[in-house]
Amino acid sequence: MQWLQLEKQLRYLERHSPYYQKVFKNNRIDILKISSYGDFKHLPITTKEDLQQYNKDFISVPQEDIIDYVTTSGTLGEPVSLALNDEDLQRLATNEYESFKLAGVKKEDVVLITTTLDRRFMAGLAYFLGLRKLGAGIVRSGSGLPQLQWDSIERFKPKYIICVPSFLLKILEYATENKIEYKKTSIKAVICIGEPVRTSAYELNSLGQRIKELWDIEIFSTYASTEMATAFTECEVHKGNHCQPMLIYPEILDENGMHTAPGEVGELVVTTLQSQTMPILRFATGDMLSYTEEPCDCGRNTMRLSPVVGRKKQMIKLKGTSIYPQSILEVLNQFPDIENFVIEATRDNLGLDQITVKVPAGLSLENIDVLQNQFKSKLAVSLNIQIVTKEEIEMLQFPDGSRKPQVFRDFR
Ligand SMILES: [Zn+2]
Repeated sequence: MQWLQLEKQLRYLERHSPYYQKVFKNNRIDILKISSYGDFKHLPITTKEDLQQYNKDFISVPQEDIIDYVTTSGTLGEPVSLALNDEDLQRLATNEYESFKLAGVKKEDVVLITTTLDRRFMAGLAYFLGLRKLGAGIVRSGSGLPQLQWDSIERFKPKYIICVPSFLLKILEYATENKIEYKKTSIKAVICIGEPVRTSAYELNSLGQRIKELWDIEIFSTYASTEMATAFTECEVHKGNHCQPMLIYPEILDENGMHTAPGEVGELVVTTLQSQTMPILRFATGDMLSYTEEPCDCGRNTMRLSPVVGRKKQMIKLKGTSIYPQSILEVLNQFPDIENFVIEATRDNLGLDQITVKVPAGLSLENIDVLQNQFKSKLAVSLNIQIVTKEEIEMLQFPDGSRKPQVFRDFR
C-alpha cells in the first residue's frame, strides 16, 4: 500500500514539481523505471539548503490554490517558507487525527492547545485541524501567559494539554508561586511538542523526569517538523514514535547514505506522501535517530522512531565514538549542583574533535570524579572538564549580546 502511494507521489513530482523535474532531468532519472524500494534508494537526496535556495521551484500547484503560508522555526539557520493547499490541510488534519488517537484522545475529551495558532507556525493549526476531525473539545489558549493557562484549565476542565515541555515547567513554577493546586486539576496527560522527553532507552530524560516529579500525569512525546508536515506520535506504551506509513516514507541513513539496521543511529530522510503544494523527496532532516520495526505492545505494527539523539551537524567524534551535545547535557542535568555550564567543541591540529566541559568553581573534587565517571559510563568516553568562575560561564553563554544562552558552543 505504501509503495503504491510512493509510486503515485513520484509521478506527481514529475508532473508538477519544477524542482524535481529539473533534478530528474539533470540526473537522467526515468521515474517509470523506479519500481521498488531498491530502485528508490538511489534517488538523490534533497537538503535543507536546496529547499532554501530553490524555495519557489518546490511549489507544485497554481498560486491561487494556496491557502496557508508558514515558515519553519529556523532553529539552525534562516526560516524557510512553505505553503499548503486544501488537500495539504486535510492531510495535516488526518495526520493529527491519527496522532491523537495514538495518545488515546476521544471525541468527548477537551484539549488545551498552548502552542500558537498564528505567527506562521504549522503545529498549532495542525493540532486544531486534527481535533476538529476528531470532534473533540478545543481550548486555544496560545503560548505564554501562565495565568491564562491555569484559568483555562479551571474553566473548561481539559483532560489533555498540548505543550512545549520546558514551557510546562514554567507554568508549574507559576502555579507553585501562586498556590494553584495543579495536582487536583482535570489534566491527565500532556502531549509534548518541540523537545525530546525521553532517552533512546525510552526512559524519561532529565526534562521528562522533572515534569513527572512535579506532576504525575502521562507524558506523550511527539516528533515533527514543518518541512515534513507530519508528526510521529507515541502510543500508550511509550516506546517510540509511530509512523503513519500512508503519509510519509522515512529512511534512516548512515554516513555513506546506506540504510541502517534497526536500532542503529543514522540521519532521518523523509519523503512526504499525498502532499501537493511543496512535496519533498528524500529530504535530509539533519535529525539523528534510530528505528524499530518490531510490532508494538499496543497492537500496531507500524515502524517506530526513537527520540532524536542529536543534530547531524553537531555530531562529535571522540576516539571513534559518535556523541551529541544533547547526551552530554543529559549527564550534566543529572547534577543539581551544576547549575550552569558550557560545552565547547574544538578541533585540534590533527583535525580531531575535542570537547571541553566548563563547570563553575565550587564543586568538590569528589563531585568532579562522579561527573567524569558518569561521562565514561553514559558516553563511553571521558571528557576534558575545566573549572572556571561563574562569571566566565555567563560571559561564554551570552557571546555578542546574544539573548538566548548558548550551552553548546561549536568552534569547529
Ligand atoms: Zn504502540
